[in-house]
Amino acid sequence: MERRIIFATGNENKMEEIRMILEDLPMPVHSMKEAGVEADIVEDGMTFEENAEIKARAVSRLLPNDIVLADDSGLEIDYLDKAPGIYSARFAGEDTSYDIKNRILLDKLEGVPEEERTARFVCAVAAVFPDGEVKTVRGTIEGRVAHEIIGENGFGYDPIFYYPETDCTTAEMSPEQKNELSHRGNALRAMRKILERYVEEAERAEEG
Ligand code: IMP
Repeated sequence: MERRIIFATGNENKMEEIRMILEDLPMPVHSMKEAGVEADIVEDGMTFEENAEIKARAVSRLLPNDIVLADDSGLEIDYLDKAPGIYSARFAGEDTSYDIKNRILLDKLEGVPEEERTARFVCAVAAVFPDGEVKTVRGTIEGRVAHEIIGENGFGYDPIFYYPETDCTTAEMSPEQKNELSHRGNALRAMRKILERYVEEAERAEEG
């Protein structure tokens, strides 16, 4: 089988995570850059799933013979009616540092008791197959908004995302530990199962 998987992201950190989780599939996984395509995509969906599908479809139009995957992710804070949600990257301005974004969110939750600080990271992953079929999966990790910025690892909102089971923020976890627990890890593992089934069915069809 000569199919390739292309992941529609320009983010090299994400590509590392993605390669780790999808590495044992019998198909090579490439970034858009490696596949030699660029796309300026307007993410105007109303859900994580819609945005992931918009990105995957846009790149699939450029690479119709490949399986194209894309993800969309963000932080939902229950006390803020699930904000910043799908606007996580744009919250307080695309160019604002995460140190400032995180401080703004901590200020908004100033004095809010523990039980009302519940939050989750969400990640939707969409796959567009060469026959046009689309599959979408969602992964989450449930936690709480911390009271201060803690930890140096990860990126984005990790330093304010407290995970009770390990009693630390996701910015205090190693990349491996975060992968095992994270929204993106969970969504990619669910997508890996779909891709494994696809490979099995394609092989059966080829055998006739
Ligand atoms: P996108 O999925 O590339 O559109 O990114 C969405 C935004 O959500 C990121 O820029 C971060 O602000 C936030 N986000 C998504 N996943 C994580 C994570 O694992 N840790 C911290 N922030 C995240």
